Amino acid sequence: MKNCNRMNIEDLELSVPMKELYNEVSPLINKIEIVYTENDLSYSGVGARAIKLPNRDWEIELRKDEPFMEYVLSHELLHILLDTKGYPNVSKIDISKKRWKIAQLLTNTILHKIIIKKQLKRGFEIEDARKEMLRDVADNWPTIRVLGDYGSFRDLVTLVSFMIEAEDYLDRYIGRIKENNLFLYEHAERIYKEIYDEPYDSPYSTRKRLVRVFKAFDDLLKDNNLPQWKLFEKLSVVYIPSTWELQLSVSQVFDDATNQNNDLFFYAKSDGQLSFAFEIKDVESYKEVEIEINKRRNMTVEGLFNESNTEYVTHN
Ligand SMILES: [Zn+2]
Repeated sequence: MKNCNRMNIEDLELSVPMKELYNEVSPLINKIEIVYTENDLSYSGVGARAIKLPNRDWEIELRKDEPFMEYVLSHELLHILLDTKGYPNVSKIDISKKRWKIAQLLTNTILHKIIIKKQLKRGFEIEDARKEMLRDVADNWPTIRVLGDYGSFRDLVTLVSFMIEAEDYLDRYIGRIKENNLFLYEHAERIYKEIYDEPYDSPYSTRKRLVRVFKAFDDLLKDNNLPQWKLFEKLSVVYIPSTWELQLSVSQVFDDATNQNNDLFFYAKSDGQLSFAFEIKDVESYKEVEIEINKRRNMTVEGLFNESNTEYVTHN
């Protein structure tokens, strides 16, 4: 990557609300670099993405000549803010690359509802970008009549994502979207309703919503006679404990399972969601594996977070 394509965010000229947002984010991170790219980022919803690097460094990939800079940059900065505040993200465990991309899109879509609300509240100029995106969706949506391949799932989740971005503009465009593609719209609406059903804004309630959407996605596959993806078992989403749960033993809060590679998985009893995954190293016999498993089952929940070096927030 050439140097001229990379710069520190502080070297950009930032609007007043952007400066306020950046000042809120900056104590929580080490640095943010802006990287201009010609890569196709359209799958990411807004055409940009924030990438978390080690040591609290972040990179924001932006298109060159981005026409909606304020919209896109505030969107990515808010992703970073949510991440540092313990909002859920997914870790890939045992899933194909394509399904992983769909799962990430779903996760981001759930976060986008919060991001849009914050953008509006903080006074970012985002109206033009949203209108343009919606017009594009309403006019140019591909016709999908059957779900099954990667493209159809990507279009499905992208449509949900646009419906979330549309917020109060949705009514204006919904007629045309339905007219152009009723099949996809009806499926997208099922996921959309799971997200819009009732408000959520804390890391805890957002995680709950994510697990529900993973399950709704499986229901949708089932109704189309497709095999279920079981995203809630194949992806790990860090558990958000109550304060009082921290001192409970791991086996009170989680069910566990192992696979042939001696990977150890902990599923939250409350919702079945995979919450931690460990690789048990340097063991030679089944007995040694058992010892390692029991050691973790008897730890406190707080101990498990510490052992896995996982940052966490609590609720209540
Ligand atoms: Zn996003």
